[in-house]
Amino acid sequence: MNASAHDFPEPIFDVADLSTFELFSPVVDETVWFFTNLLGMIETARSGDSVFLRGYEDPYAHSLKITHREKPGMGYAGWRATSPQALERRVEAIDRCGLGRGWVEGEVGVGPAYEFTTPDGSVQRINWEVEYYRPEKDQRSVVLNRVQRRPLSGVPVRALDHVNLLSRDVTANKRFFAEQLGFKLSEHIVLGDDVEAGAWLRSMTRSHDVALVKDAGGGGRLHHVAFLYGNTQHLIDACDVLTDHGIEFEAGPAAHAISQAQFIYVFEPGGNRIELVGTPGYQVTDPSWEPVRWAQDTIDDAIIWYGSPLPAEFDTYGTPHSGPTAYRTPNRYVAAEAGMILRADSSARG
Ligand code: FE
Repeated sequence: MNASAHDFPEPIFDVADLSTFELFSPVVDETVWFFTNLLGMIETARSGDSVFLRGYEDPYAHSLKITHREKPGMGYAGWRATSPQALERRVEAIDRCGLGRGWVEGEVGVGPAYEFTTPDGSVQRINWEVEYYRPEKDQRSVVLNRVQRRPLSGVPVRALDHVNLLSRDVTANKRFFAEQLGFKLSEHIVLGDDVEAGAWLRSMTRSHDVALVKDAGGGGRLHHVAFLYGNTQHLIDACDVLTDHGIEFEAGPAAHAISQAQFIYVFEPGGNRIELVGTPGYQVTDPSWEPVRWAQDTIDDAIIWYGSPLPAEFDTYGTPHSGPTAYRTPNRYVAAEAGMILRADSSARG
């Protein structure tokens, strides 16, 4: 039996989804080449050191901002509140717990946002005001519930999906997302009696919008950011195209039992790990969903439902990388190849 009515906590639904993600790259042109030529995103704007991109079913003007930095990593994960009132409530809660950094001005496609960090130091933003993509007539889809025509470049991803943040203390970060932002725990890995090695949390019904996995070093590092195909064949087609263009695979195609998502993990030319998701797995509509608990004896099943095991570096490599590592960072071969294609394109344009 479930807990009785009076001790069931009132759920908070103040965060809608992950709406924007800023990725740092030491080789912006090559990273943009990866996301546009291979993953079919389109460039919507440029400003300063940043390029803004969208997938054809992203709801807002852009979902990905790529900014030049010497080291790869993440700028921020941007969450959209479900209403202006929801934004106010979350800002108040974050401010009260001492992790708020204050308001930042609006930028391309996004209105003012409140910036804060997780307990691990990962930078996040939450906001309400957004701009929508307004396609030129020749970019409009005949499908009226799809704002943009499906692009013809590479194998186009539909939309930004989720983020995975390395966390030195998974439990503290999980509590932060749950208590201050209203996220619900879908699944977790608990080693021994109480050491959480991973937690997968949802804001609405997607199996997870944020994952937190144990980090042995660093602090505030990105494990990966994921984009959705929603279709097995598209993921396999992407494997074909990415292989032909020298993109280094870390793992997959395979499927996780946690979330049930089909995946590949690859490295974009800047050195960040990117996950591409085939079928996205389950949705949670049960308000009293009991978080699924995986333990030491089931951890292998949790990580890999089918497919080959993940390499050991999957647990240790994040961006920016801390300490010496020669692990695929950045992928110089891909960066060089992308640079050659870009140079050939621009000399052809004359
Ligand atoms: Fe993931």
